Amino acid sequence: MTASLQIRLLGVRGSVPVHGPAFARFGGATSCVFCLAGKEAILLDAGSGLLWEELPQALPEKHFSVLLTHAHVDHILGFPMFAPLFDKTYECDVYLKYRQGRSAKEQVEALMAPPLWPVGPAALQAAIRFQDVPSAFCIGDVQVRTMEAIHPGGATIFKLTSGEASLVYATDFEPDPERTEAFCTFAQGCSLLLLDAQYTREEYASTKGFGHMPVDQAAELAAACGAKRTLFVHHAPGRTDQQLLALERQVQTEYPNIAFGRAGEALCL
Ligand SMILES: [Zn+2]
Ligand SMILES: [Zn+2]
Repeated sequence: MTASLQIRLLGVRGSVPVHGPAFARFGGATSCVFCLAGKEAILLDAGSGLLWEELPQALPEKHFSVLLTHAHVDHILGFPMFAPLFDKTYECDVYLKYRQGRSAKEQVEALMAPPLWPVGPAALQAAIRFQDVPSAFCIGDVQVRTMEAIHPGGATIFKLTSGEASLVYATDFEPDPERTEAFCTFAQGCSLLLLDAQYTREEYASTKGFGHMPVDQAAELAAACGAKRTLFVHHAPGRTDQQLLALERQVQTEYPNIAFGRAGEALCL
């Protein structure tokens, strides 16, 4: 297989950032994945993981794209503090689906306004182009396809394809029997699936409708779509390293190609 997509997980925590020794191994930063296809830099979500100290130097050019699944705060929290956005030599394309009558720009800028934030979007000096998410488009040689997840307020699932490598990013996604077939067709045989698995089966009894997936159903879905490798993401904020390792061991007895994502983990597809 042609190695044409380099991936680095920068944040895999769900809902809110956490910190402390109990989270050192999987990390406490929220949703962000750094993808490189040649010199094309694509960031999936802009949670607090976006603030990885080495990211500005890791961008190969002064242009990058940010694909946002949705504007829940754990997915955009890093945006207002990302250094390249304060540098007028950078250009950035931000994709976010228009939702509830609000444009991509309006949704992101809602975070950068009182009472939530002291500095308005005018402080961002980079050339930022906000745009709606088409169902299919290209960023350089990377093909991007999308489908809608089941999630309160909506969320976008992205598939990036570069040569023979494909990545499906499906966070904030609640299982729905009616959506399973469409998702399996969409993600069929992907090189890597990053899939929401926030809850244990027991927790899901009281969290149904919150927009996330229990581990057992996530594993079944990953197997059903034939993903070559799967990493679970959007870990529950309170889930410690020890608990995640125990869940991982349990899942791997049946599904050896599934693991729980660790912040900092790098893969080459
Ligand atoms: Zn989330
Ligand atoms: Zn969400």
